Amino acid sequence: MPELPEVETVVRDLRPLLVGRGITGVRQSKHKLRRPWKPQWNAAVTGARVEAVRRRGTWILIDLAVSNPTPQPPPRSGEGGQARKASRAPLSEDELRSSFSPPRSGEGPGVGLPLLRVHLGMTGQFTVVDASTPQPDHLHVVFALDNAHELRYRDPRRFGSVEYFADRADAEAELSAELGPEPFGIDAAYFRDAVRGTARNLKAVLLDQTVVAGVGNIYADEACFRAKLHPGRTGKSLSADECDRLREAIEAVLTRAIESRGSTIRDYVGGSGLRGGFQNEHAVYGRTDQPCPTCKTPVLCARYAGRASHYCPHCQVINHKEGPRGRGERAQRRTRE
Ligand SMILES: [Zn+2]
Repeated sequence: MPELPEVETVVRDLRPLLVGRGITGVRQSKHKLRRPWKPQWNAAVTGARVEAVRRRGTWILIDLAVSNPTPQPPPRSGEGGQARKASRAPLSEDELRSSFSPPRSGEGPGVGLPLLRVHLGMTGQFTVVDASTPQPDHLHVVFALDNAHELRYRDPRRFGSVEYFADRADAEAELSAELGPEPFGIDAAYFRDAVRGTARNLKAVLLDQTVVAGVGNIYADEACFRAKLHPGRTGKSLSADECDRLREAIEAVLTRAIESRGSTIRDYVGGSGLRGGFQNEHAVYGRTDQPCPTCKTPVLCARYAGRASHYCPHCQVINHKEGPRGRGERAQRRTRE
């Protein structure tokens, strides 16, 4: 399942291929995605131009500009016009790293402007290719571009979605209700309160998108390992220092994974069709019984928050007051003791 680094890679790949391009038509397959593309959206999208490609959590947001918008009063010199201009300015390095825009207020510059919102689900692939490229199977929505290329959404398991919103503010209001802050530059006090205020284990806290947006199974395990914290530890058992360590580990692991174009486990490819490379750098995820890169103890896999969780029982210790040990860990300790 694509997590934040994979989605960010798709966004970075698509941005130079899409921004400024016009959409000249839409095709869709008869197989429906979990949230199906509606045929009445075809007319709304055809003729639109791509203004920006962004990410929020694991959602891809494509801002559209319509070439013949309903007549609007010209922006007065001041906030309106300036805000529009500012939103098109080149992104700074920091903005590129976490290419999401903060939620806009109800009267902000995004109101009334259309947007495509895309989720890759389990197996979604969202790529730009030459229009003459043979069509693969499981192709669901195809946007023809004005340069003889196509933006193609392919999803064998169909858990993903491509949706049109006539008003960006509607899409962003939905997202801000579901998602906590982006995992880059999280406020330390906010994160300490969120983690220490719960009896849930760290795996559950990290998977909770309302605490931090975009962390899934792979990067939750990798962040716990990097912070030397057992995924079964309860949030409230962490000291303030441990919370800070975890927060920094999340940011470091995600940053490194983005640099490696994410992890390709099954079907994931970036927006230009290239696979990720971070799967070769996983310290614990998917490495059950293989040696811990730090201490060579075999990596264990136990279920926390209902998900397979990988950790080193030597580097990530837990005492009985801090939460339950995994089953494999109890067995491994018995044979050693
Ligand atoms: Zn270890």
